[in-house]
Amino acid sequence: MIKIEHIGIAVESLEASAPLFSKLLGKTHYKTEHVAGEKVNTAFFKLGDHKIELLEATAAESPIAKFLNAKGEGVHHIAFDVDDIASELKRLKSEGFEIINDTPKIGADNKLVAFLHPKSTNGVLIELCQEIKS
Ligand code: ZN
Repeated sequence: MIKIEHIGIAVESLEASAPLFSKLLGKTHYKTEHVAGEKVNTAFFKLGDHKIELLEATAAESPIAKFLNAKGEGVHHIAFDVDDIASELKRLKSEGFEIINDTPKIGADNKLVAFLHPKSTNGVLIELCQEIKS
């Protein structure tokens, strides 16, 4: 089953945007995390069953830096929670979607993640994520 896990928002500065979203949502973020593989810092806000993930680039070659340069701040991706990321990737590939990460990688928030290319999803970057069970 696919359900929305979080919405990722690209920001220039977590230091500026985390307090802004705290004001907006009436609560503070519950954690920040550095994701070395993506060269980003993240801050997570919990909203019921869903989350908002703010993403700031930590290097010029970060995907978030490239996004900010091209489009500016804003919604970056929608993340779907799946039970079995490998089988979902296989299913979506067979349906004709373009997969960016054929092999899921370690993302933020204790998740395996893989992205679908926005050119196959009406311009929306889609992240699939699966909780890593320890
Ligand atoms: Zn995400």
